[in-house]
Amino acid sequence: MSSLSIDPLDGWAENFSYDYYRKLLRTLRTNYEVRTLSEYPDCRSNGERAAFMRHDIDVCIDRAVELAKLEHEFGVQSTYMVIPNTPLYDVATEREQLCEIAELGHEIGLHCAVDWGASSDWEAEETGESGLSHAERTQIEAARRQLESIGIGPITSLSFHQPVDRVLAGPSTIAGMVNAYSEDLMSAYISDSAGRWREGAPIEGITRRDTTDVMQVLTHPVWWAAEHEPPTERFLTVIETFDVMNERMYDELVSVGPNHDGWNDQLSVRSLELSG
Ligand SMILES: [Zn+2]
Repeated sequence: MSSLSIDPLDGWAENFSYDYYRKLLRTLRTNYEVRTLSEYPDCRSNGERAAFMRHDIDVCIDRAVELAKLEHEFGVQSTYMVIPNTPLYDVATEREQLCEIAELGHEIGLHCAVDWGASSDWEAEETGESGLSHAERTQIEAARRQLESIGIGPITSLSFHQPVDRVLAGPSTIAGMVNAYSEDLMSAYISDSAGRWREGAPIEGITRRDTTDVMQVLTHPVWWAAEHEPPTERFLTVIETFDVMNERMYDELVSVGPNHDGWNDQLSVRSLELSG
């Protein structure tokens, strides 16, 4: 379905501790100016060598607040992408936490869960240079309004949650927002999706690409903590904090989880505990 789905055993998952994360930030800062995504047009026109630290909040805002504090202590400003209509958290209820992230100097962007399957009109329709159908653009606008309606924003950057291939290497802006999946921002890109750095250890990955002018690093706060835990264990630790688990939540957790053999069984056990 997505080119971002990977063999679960590919990639590197040796260290998701905050100590390692600080080393990663240090490496990034040695080689680049670290900017938020909304600063992208300015730093490109200045000819600056810029790195963009992006966080997609797929599971839990509390984990993101913790990472935002760590980055603030380190003097790094990054971009936290929030899904306004996920079954896993409620942006209105957790507005204070999002404001806290913003007050630490970080940017809040839109992590947009588009219903790609609803776009049967895509090939037939004139999609324009964004490569998106009218229905998809409408969903993006609605998601942005939903996020801004709780008093966050204005929202000026966008990343897709579980993007399909045709939107990768897209235009630099979509609906006036900086597109994290633009061709330029994807030219040197590493990510910890599904709890695996599929290009190998990220610090080496940054060092290896240090001749590029633009670098984007995507991390998901759910994998990171003071002490390293393997992704499966870490994910279950976070799910322990959930009070309820309905079918939509379960399906969403399966789609963003570590994707290892046996992991879904462990999630099912936890799900039964919560529903029973
Ligand atoms: Zn996502």
